Amino acid sequence: MSRFFSGRHKALVPYTPGEQPTQRQYIKLNTNESPFPPSEKAVLFASEAAKKLELYPDPTCGALHAAFAKHCGAEPDEVLMTNGSDEILFFAFQAFCDDRHPAAFADITYGFYSVFADLLHVPYTLIPLRDDFSVDPEDYVGLGKTIFLANPNAPTGLALPLDAVERIVRGNQNNVVVVDEAYVDFGGESAVGLIHQYDNLLVTQTFSKSRSMAGGRLGFGAANPEIIRDLETIRYSTNPYNIDMMTQAAGTACLLHDEYNTENCRTIIRTREKTRKALEKLGFEVTDSRANFLFARHPDISGEDLYRKLKERGILVRHFSAERIRDYNRISVGTDEQMETLVRETEKILCKAK
Ligand code: PMP
Repeated sequence: MSRFFSGRHKALVPYTPGEQPTQRQYIKLNTNESPFPPSEKAVLFASEAAKKLELYPDPTCGALHAAFAKHCGAEPDEVLMTNGSDEILFFAFQAFCDDRHPAAFADITYGFYSVFADLLHVPYTLIPLRDDFSVDPEDYVGLGKTIFLANPNAPTGLALPLDAVERIVRGNQNNVVVVDEAYVDFGGESAVGLIHQYDNLLVTQTFSKSRSMAGGRLGFGAANPEIIRDLETIRYSTNPYNIDMMTQAAGTACLLHDEYNTENCRTIIRTREKTRKALEKLGFEVTDSRANFLFARHPDISGEDLYRKLKERGILVRHFSAERIRDYNRISVGTDEQMETLVRETEKILCKAK
């Protein structure tokens, strides 16, 4: 820490992203990226856009905005595009949280929520998940706080049905409820359709997982126009050119030709279920994940040990050291072949551990 670092941030513990190794070629199952390349059209549109790099990108994201609004059955003033969904979540913390509107989220959920809250000095309450890691919607009703709900949740993968999400939104009409649907395309139920009914609902999603665009950094939100205007105020006060022109072009192509991505999601769901069965056969306890990852523990080996041993064998998964989940690993769903290798190597590790 330099002697110039603001005292306001001295205690800040930043978010730790998953490893992105450059030295060794790993089977990379640690950051929930898609195992499939982006659609050819997305690459083509992006490389065409790169020819105009001397210009600033369109701050209104015109073409992408229109394509996206149509895609999710919303009006253009009901959507906002951002640099990954991390950015819209950060905007939401800035726009809708303060001392009078503290934040609330689950004790086990996406790690960035608490970092954003700490950075902005927003007070927050952690709501414990049940013992089986499920969310009890009643815990959130009438909270009087700005709620952040990852659905499906990470890293557990568990999803709430739409009626339970609606119960939370309806039960907090004087507070914003942010539903983070980063993983919704792998089997969750989206709440986007509810934005016309509830003016306190903000739904966020991403192109990073189901559209193979983690490297492009593209996220979006859907909400009532007033909420979107507040978020635009924050965006125009920080970085109006938040989405570069290649990403805008790639995102537009993705939406115009979304069948490729939809098919990839189907494949990932099939592979996830196959891998779940194989892991259960090896004695793992696996949550009922509706995301592009599995969350699993084994009675004979600690989460950290398994993470380390898989890494030695060239397979990266994600281990978290938080008390309640330290026995588990989060394993992103790769190709069939990658997952077969994961299961095979895990079996060998377990045999040696006996
Ligand atoms: N929400 C959740 C629950 C996530 O797991 C992630 C990805 N790590 C994000 C949001 C942010 O994703 P991105 O910024 O790539 O859109």
